[in-house]
Amino acid sequence: MAPETDLMAKIVSLCKRRGFVFQSSEIYGGLNSCYDYGPLGVELKRNVKDAWWNSMVTGREDVVGLDSAILQHPAVWKASGHLDTFSDPLIDCKQCKSRFRADHLQEGAYGEVRDGDDGRPRCPKCDGELTDARQFNLMFKTFMGPVEDAANTVYMRPETAQGIFTNFVNVANSARMKPPFGIAQMGKSFRNEITPGNFVFRTREFEQMEMEYFVPPDESEKWFEYWVEERFEWYVRNGVRRSKLRQRPHAQDELAHYSTGCIDVEYEFPFGWSELEGIANRTDFDLKQHTEHSGKDLSFFDEVEKSRYVPHVIEPAAGCDRTAMTFLVDAYDEEERHNEKTGKTETRTVLRFHPRIAPITVAVFPLVKKEGMPDRARAIVQELAGAGLRTFYDQKGAIGRRYRRQDEVGTPYCLTVDGQTLEDGTVTLRDRDSMEQQRVAGAEVAGFVQAKMSDWRRE
Ligand code: ATP
Repeated sequence: MAPETDLMAKIVSLCKRRGFVFQSSEIYGGLNSCYDYGPLGVELKRNVKDAWWNSMVTGREDVVGLDSAILQHPAVWKASGHLDTFSDPLIDCKQCKSRFRADHLQEGAYGEVRDGDDGRPRCPKCDGELTDARQFNLMFKTFMGPVEDAANTVYMRPETAQGIFTNFVNVANSARMKPPFGIAQMGKSFRNEITPGNFVFRTREFEQMEMEYFVPPDESEKWFEYWVEERFEWYVRNGVRRSKLRQRPHAQDELAHYSTGCIDVEYEFPFGWSELEGIANRTDFDLKQHTEHSGKDLSFFDEVEKSRYVPHVIEPAAGCDRTAMTFLVDAYDEEERHNEKTGKTETRTVLRFHPRIAPITVAVFPLVKKEGMPDRARAIVQELAGAGLRTFYDQKGAIGRRYRRQDEVGTPYCLTVDGQTLEDGTVTLRDRDSMEQQRVAGAEVAGFVQAKMSDWRRE
């Protein structure tokens, strides 16, 4: 196995074994590209969303939140362009029936493509004949009400952004916001992707985290640059190695006709550099489209300047699942360590999550299952949970193995109640990264851990 395939295989296996991510409907053979998040995965995703919301909404005066419906009036998708142009070029192999995205095929994403005697490309899997490219709309359709006909067709939203544009006036008026200001939303989106894959990187049902930032037209360039930097640094602040991230400006021919700029934040995954998030300058396209299609004026009247204008929009659009996967891939580490007791070299698997992102912050262990240690440990669990820390209690197995189990799921701190705890109230706190242990007064543990969390830096 190539090292990079090997790494993804190890991560997928760890995710299943430890309860981060399961194949959806696994007992029925699974449903292609659909995944379920287990007990640790759901905490990881919640932390991703909290980190995003805290930095985009809670910690700012100029951004407010929204939670719009997944099902929207079909006219929304006509106005946004999704009904007419949200499609991928699709090519089928007539022989093995494999399906490819024409652009990905050309880029060699499915392997080397040979030209046949007629000069047309052949299937990279079986060398069979390929069809011409056809446009395939990526929106999932369903029907509203009991009658399944065209008049009742509705679409599962392919992005969260349009619900923000259609609510622009509602939000600006009710929250008394004036540009520059943003509306943020996170939630499920659905795309009937032709070639989903790479675990949860590209799926057909996924969660997005998007923000539309409305600005006076002459300020759009300034805000575009601001949001590119802000979003790039967000990944670094949450523990992703800077050396694994880059900004990729879109070439002119990649840009939508209305867009004046787009920069992707990319991560170097085991399968290559790939998009994590796109930051786009969408100009006044969306608000103008919805004004034209709905007949409702979506311009903004500036009371101070006494002028009316259609705001321009800067959009940082990220994916929650892709971010969670990035945190997992970036955190994964294997360390060779010499075990003094056995004299052997052992491999320690450790997820080096930022403590804010780790599913469990403090694991609490009684050294042994007697002498009142379990009761004391459980009381500490309650205290730490009361201080807002995510905790986990474990009394099973040798202490070294308990540490290793927590290393493997990225728990930054392990707290052990031992004989000395019963005498003087101190506990042992072990650091995941350095494996160093120190004694801390029981009453000070929550504050001590919180201080360590905010000082944490990736080595
Ligand atoms: P791609 O080029 O990878 O298909 P995109 O440019 O179409 O993505 P956007 O429409 O800009 O993506 O969506 C914003 C973000 O939503 C992406 O950067 C990604 O993180 C996430 N996203 C988009 N499609 C998927 C998908 N099928 N599965 C998981 N996440 C996705």
